[in-house]
Amino acid sequence: MNFPGSSEEAERRILERLENMRDNIVRLSSDLIRIPTVNPPGENYGEISSFLSKKMDEIGLKVEVFQASESKLKELGLKPPRPVVVGTLEAGKPEEALHFNGHYDVVPAGEGWTVEPFKPTVRNGRLYGRGASDMKGGIAAMLAAVEAVRKERVNLRGDLKLSFVPDEEIGGQTGTGCLAELGLMEGKAALIGEASGIDRVCVAHKGALWLEVAVKGEAAHTCMAHKAVNAVEKAAKIIVELGKLKEGFKAKATRTPMLSGHENPVINIGGVIRGGVKANVVPELCVFTVDRRLIPEENVEEAEAEIVGLIEEMGREDPQLQAEVKRILHVEAAFTPENEKICRVLVEAAGKVTGVKPQISGLPVFTDMHFFSQHMPSAIYGPGVLEKVHAADEYVPVEELVASAKVYALTILKMLA
Ligand SMILES: [Zn+2]
Repeated sequence: MNFPGSSEEAERRILERLENMRDNIVRLSSDLIRIPTVNPPGENYGEISSFLSKKMDEIGLKVEVFQASESKLKELGLKPPRPVVVGTLEAGKPEEALHFNGHYDVVPAGEGWTVEPFKPTVRNGRLYGRGASDMKGGIAAMLAAVEAVRKERVNLRGDLKLSFVPDEEIGGQTGTGCLAELGLMEGKAALIGEASGIDRVCVAHKGALWLEVAVKGEAAHTCMAHKAVNAVEKAAKIIVELGKLKEGFKAKATRTPMLSGHENPVINIGGVIRGGVKANVVPELCVFTVDRRLIPEENVEEAEAEIVGLIEEMGREDPQLQAEVKRILHVEAAFTPENEKICRVLVEAAGKVTGVKPQISGLPVFTDMHFFSQHMPSAIYGPGVLEKVHAADEYVPVEELVASAKVYALTILKMLA
């Protein structure tokens, strides 16, 4: 370490610097919110990628831009550009890298706003706008932290890598998933800046399995209904059986930290359902979705096998029941043991900055953490209000923006200096 004075001295100066950067952090968050990177379909990605590249270049990071392969984009029906922007502070030790990750896409604004979703405004200490919590505030805090560390000229022992990615809101395959596919997941820890709130360190998130079940029948006039196979009726039988899985979930609570009330697997059947064309035609097809959420002790393969097995069993008992199951999305659950360094460092840093020992928890929704957790210990910590994520009047408390930036800076020092 070649900064002047002791490490405590450097810490103190960096925290002071970030306190003085309060307005800059709010401005940077606002600049990001003002670029409406709405997904779907994925708007203004080129603009935000240029903005983030320029910002990282100014801070002194080496900037590279990647994109998922054309075949991948085609397979998912997505249009370019979908830039994955990576900034590196090189120490010549990629194997020791600490990753900071954030997604720059936001969900559509939706209805019910009392402020303009893409014209950020500060009111009563809160910065309002779509993406304030999820998660442009987190991105701004990360950039501020790196800038502060950089300005204090702290020597780092390992690389610091910032990846700002698209498409987390649609599964992440062409965002953080692209980094994994390109083999850029080398390092010793990752921090995802999603809105945990500053008093919570998340070390786990649930997984998800989305299935589409297509149940076949025979089209016929209603007058033949007593003889034809009704696809909707067959689907209804399957839906009732799938619903019974919930009984088993009650006995299956996770032992990993998880937000209270979300300890068990859940299933949502028929989030989308369609069948039949007309009142007097026996439906020949009924298609419905299943969204099964997995606790960290479960995996996608087993959860799928359970559902497929159950439907196949029904088909053996009733030969007229014919259904095909197609996987439309899968995300493994993620979990990092609390005694991993990244978790300990975050808990300590958050405690130091906020004055309160943070709660260790897990998220009932999935994030890009799982892409990292297959390669290195990873955790989620960032500014924001969970209840306001994807909601109208989304906001982030300004205090949390500054506090997160401080926690990020301390994490860099503890992990790399
Ligand atoms: Zn998010």
